[in-house]
Amino acid sequence: MSVIVRFAPSPTGRLHVGNVRTALLNHLFVREQGGEFILRIDDTDLERSTEEYENGIREDLSWLGLDWDSSFNQSHKFDAYDEAASILRKAGLLYACYETAEELDKQRKLQRVAGKPPIYNRAALELTEKEKDEYRQEGRLPHWRFKLSGNVVTWNDLVRGEQSIDTSSLSDPVLIRGDGTYLYTLPSVVDDIDARITHVIRGEDHVTNSGAQIEIFRALSDHLPNFAHTPLLVGKDGKGLSKRLGSLSIQQLREDGLEPLAICSLLGKIGTSDPVDIRDNMKTLASEFSFDKVSRAPARFDEDELAMLNAKLLNDLPYDRVKQELDDLGVQGGEDFWNLIRANIGKIGDAAQWSVMAFAPMAGQIEPEDTDFCNLAADSLPDELDQDSWSSWTNHLKETTGRKGKNLFMPLRMALTGRARGPEMNKMLLVLGADRARARLRGQSG
Ligand code: GLU
Repeated sequence: MSVIVRFAPSPTGRLHVGNVRTALLNHLFVREQGGEFILRIDDTDLERSTEEYENGIREDLSWLGLDWDSSFNQSHKFDAYDEAASILRKAGLLYACYETAEELDKQRKLQRVAGKPPIYNRAALELTEKEKDEYRQEGRLPHWRFKLSGNVVTWNDLVRGEQSIDTSSLSDPVLIRGDGTYLYTLPSVVDDIDARITHVIRGEDHVTNSGAQIEIFRALSDHLPNFAHTPLLVGKDGKGLSKRLGSLSIQQLREDGLEPLAICSLLGKIGTSDPVDIRDNMKTLASEFSFDKVSRAPARFDEDELAMLNAKLLNDLPYDRVKQELDDLGVQGGEDFWNLIRANIGKIGDAAQWSVMAFAPMAGQIEPEDTDFCNLAADSLPDELDQDSWSSWTNHLKETTGRKGKNLFMPLRMALTGRARGPEMNKMLLVLGADRARARLRGQSG
């Protein structure tokens, strides 16, 4: 049996690291197993869903390298949901309720006061046809609930192991709102059946839903997927990310200059038994994937770790893998320059800054107490520079001035590059050339 999975975002916002981890785990699993990855746009909520968000989701997934084999929108499938609803109605499993939101709220409050769990009391099941008519004449529109069995639903979750949900502890879920629109629960099951989804891989906030949804699966079909509920992401402080998800959108991370493979390497490895590190490509990540490695504990997402992985990825990248991006950024100096700076960049945009520093005229930064020293350094710099020039020149300066260590090297670095840290100076000096280096050492533009 070939694997079929789906990632089912609602286009009511941009993707963030939390839902992308779900997309990624689906993707890694299906690419490792061989099979089909469906992108399902859960846009039954027509008011909150927008085409702009849908396009954003596709753009973000493509950029991350999470390609899908097919895609469809739930908003094109209302006929199928109506048909399923009618099957459930005929089976006596979908019943009309007329309570208003206020009445339900009051009911829950009373239950709480009485020390009972706030479970829907199923009063609607007792309504006579006459009472229903009266409600309708009052102008009340029914919402529709699925009648749970009251039994314990069990499944063997691929991440959480044996799971059991006692449906007698749940309210019968509303499947259709008073205005006739569908909540997520039924369309999701209908589409999982239609597409013969073999594995539903999603966040553990859906565990309870799964209890109810499994009963709906059973009522509609003999198809039942496997389930894998993955722990949610938390920040490095162990707190939930929900308040910070805006700044952790994929769009934002992309704008911040982070690389897709760094994001996927981190999200694919946190909360697993594998070490968190950069992987060469998505294939490697997929080949290492297994549900056995996914921990039940929350996965910690740390932006500093992402920054570190991003730097590591760039530091290891050969020129041909970044040439296009460097050209787009206007970075000069070709392969040699890339090899010189790559250990010093955290984000690809940093390459542009080093390029400006190295190839555009700039005056050096010289502290007043270093002016004489830098002038002397300029005077003693040879015209012809080679690999050894930096060491012979600085040795000479050491002997003539008595300066050593930081006192010797830092003023030179600051005068030549304007920064306290950066690429190896012996090579940087060659990139600058003698004339420009001298000008910078004299505090002139060079
Ligand atoms: N649209 C749902 C969500 O984003 C999909 C959940 C599921 O994968 O079934 O939470």
